[in-house]
Amino acid sequence: MKIAALAGGTGAAKLLRGLARLVDPGDLTIIGNTGDDLDLWGLHVSPDLDTVCYTLAGIVDAIKGWGLGDESFHALDAMQRFGEPTWFNLGDRDLATHLHRTGLLRQGRTLTQVTASVAAGLGVAQRVLPMSNQPVRTGVLGPDGWLDFQEYFVREKAQIAVRAVRYEGAESARPAPGVVEAILEARAVIVCPSNPITSVGPILAVPGIARALGESRATALAISPIVGGEAVSGPAGRLMAACGLPVSAVGVAQVYAPWLDTIVLDQRDAGLAAELAALGVSAVTTDTLMTSPEKEIALARRILDALR
Ligand code: GDP
Repeated sequence: MKIAALAGGTGAAKLLRGLARLVDPGDLTIIGNTGDDLDLWGLHVSPDLDTVCYTLAGIVDAIKGWGLGDESFHALDAMQRFGEPTWFNLGDRDLATHLHRTGLLRQGRTLTQVTASVAAGLGVAQRVLPMSNQPVRTGVLGPDGWLDFQEYFVREKAQIAVRAVRYEGAESARPAPGVVEAILEARAVIVCPSNPITSVGPILAVPGIARALGESRATALAISPIVGGEAVSGPAGRLMAACGLPVSAVGVAQVYAPWLDTIVLDQRDAGLAAELAALGVSAVTTDTLMTSPEKEIALARRILDALR
């Protein structure tokens, strides 16, 4: 079964690791968010693509769910002496990825080519695509003005009130090569349990991607990142509320409603099924908390069963 997966970072990576155990690598294309990419110390950092690749390669930091395991931060300490920003935690071994990416981009390669090179270098067998080769930057309007997503998320620890979210550059971005094709050729599109506003939202904001989702004959299935009225982790709930959405699987389904067929929600949210049906979305309930590798595989298996 050919699958295209829309993916953010940490939530997506856990599900993808489960799916990777059950799906032939050649059948899985991952379309990753680049809305929270940033330039730091002259380097191009793609946090979500890297989280997905590090996780599938089995080298992610198991506790944090991002960055590399067995990491050190000597370069970060040293940069402090030069007054360089040190709020973004770039590890020493992680730096190799960003140096490689930035070097290839400077030689004129596209982010698609560079991402393929990073994935191959790490031994990731699945196809990992950025959503676009043009820059799209997610911005968040806080009390003192617009911040880039990572300034909000990492520097401010997502602790400021948010009034609006924007995807700068999205209007003139194009889907990266292979993205629309993967959606149109898939039997299933899986929207990973990712932040609907800042992980999946930027992907959908690239003109042509939402249209392909509407045109595709694939079954579109999303996993709710909201369980029991709050996000499993991170600011998804607060950001959804700021965008006027209910903080529940219903709010998630509203974002994806034009093309979504099925939503997988946690069993404790089973009471939402009728409201979801009214949106034209069928509900599958199961334990969606991926707190162990076994539970990642179990959720992936439940999803594949529902798709069959
Ligand atoms: P980020 O870029 O690291 O924020 O990555 P994502 O957007 O992919 O993942 C964050 C989202 O995943 C948050 O909204 C969490 O609520 C959700 N999430 C994380 N772990 C789980 C889980 O085990 N189950 C479910 N259902 N959602 C999860």
